[in-house]
Amino acid sequence: MKKTIALLPGDGIGKEVVDVTVDILKAIAEHFHHQFQFNYGLIGGDAIDQKGTPLPEETIAICKDSDAIILGAVGGPKWDQNPMELRPERGLLALRKELDLFANLRPIKTFESLLDSSPLKKEYVDGVDFVIVRELTGGLYFGKPSERIVHEGEDAVVDTLLYKRYEIERILVSAFEIASKRRKHVTSVDKANVLESSRVWREVAEEVAARYPDVTLEHMLVDNAAMQLIRSPKQFDVIVTENMFGDILSDEASMITGSLGLLSSASLSSSGLHLFEPVHGSAPDIAGKNIANPIATILSAAMMLRQSFGLEEEAKAIEKAVDNVLNAGNRTADLAEDGKAVSTKQIGEEIKNALGDDHAILNIMEAYS
Ligand code: NAD
Repeated sequence: MKKTIALLPGDGIGKEVVDVTVDILKAIAEHFHHQFQFNYGLIGGDAIDQKGTPLPEETIAICKDSDAIILGAVGGPKWDQNPMELRPERGLLALRKELDLFANLRPIKTFESLLDSSPLKKEYVDGVDFVIVRELTGGLYFGKPSERIVHEGEDAVVDTLLYKRYEIERILVSAFEIASKRRKHVTSVDKANVLESSRVWREVAEEVAARYPDVTLEHMLVDNAAMQLIRSPKQFDVIVTENMFGDILSDEASMITGSLGLLSSASLSSSGLHLFEPVHGSAPDIAGKNIANPIATILSAAMMLRQSFGLEEEAKAIEKAVDNVLNAGNRTADLAEDGKAVSTKQIGEEIKNALGDDHAILNIMEAYS
């Protein structure tokens, strides 16, 4: 298979984790006889420094000419004082809008060998396996007006929570599609006891649910959902929610697994051009030290192989290799006990080698079958 992959490493540890991931994708291409072409683009602070904008036109063109996109992370203290339009995060928001990346998927699954890394007790997190589907291009983060105003003679401020009905419908359809291939349970999170937007969200959720008779729909208020994620995370299969609730709940959920450095994500569009990125940011505190955990980005690449290219066996090979390497006790600094950490590059090498082993075993099995 021939595929073109846009690589947007961005800032901070983005470059380090994307480099390691590319090595692994090259190994996958070699083992499974594919051709992956990688095209690099600038985004975020790096793009501001080199091109004067967080999302240059060339980067959009590179993405549109590709079959999938892998992003590292954007941001850092260097650009924190910049005006809003020259903030690195603007680059990512603009790319989501430009490519209509409306559905953000975050799988939350605990690793057997890392159960002790979770701040929650083992018995609560063992076996956790759910997906958060967050609406990404609407709601409070994009609604206008969003400004300081004078209201009834007082200094005031307004943000707008705006959703078109089709935007609510398409994210719910995505959630039901995913649930129908999993344990067939959707938890739709809202604040219908207070917000009109949530009442419409519920209405649409019921309409969509009627098209999926084998999937159960449950409504949950967002404050309760925040509590249930800690109290009993195993109850969830697919959680679907609007942009801001999803932003908050997905960061809360990320801690169930123990480290941000483990969590992958996919942002899906209706055009079929999807973006894959780790959940974490650019981690300026550890950037350039070769200590970041690259697993979140590596697992995002596995999601890309499965979701964008239909390469299930290749995706599983990466996931299995990550599992094997963690089971063997390899830990980056975010997960290691003092003094026992391996570097970003070392764990990448280990995963690449584990990939080779698994594939070698696979070849032997094929030869004898
Ligand atoms: P962060 O995710 O970058 O870091 C939070 C903490 O987790 C830090 O202590 C960091 O060292 C650690 N961490 C994160 N990823 C890690 C990894 N792979 N391995 C080991 N440790 C890791 O969040 P932050 O500090 O709030 O933000 C830093 C910058 O990143 C800000 O400029 C922010 O705007 C940006 N950001 C970008 C994205 C994105 O690009 N999608 C997401 C979140 C934050």
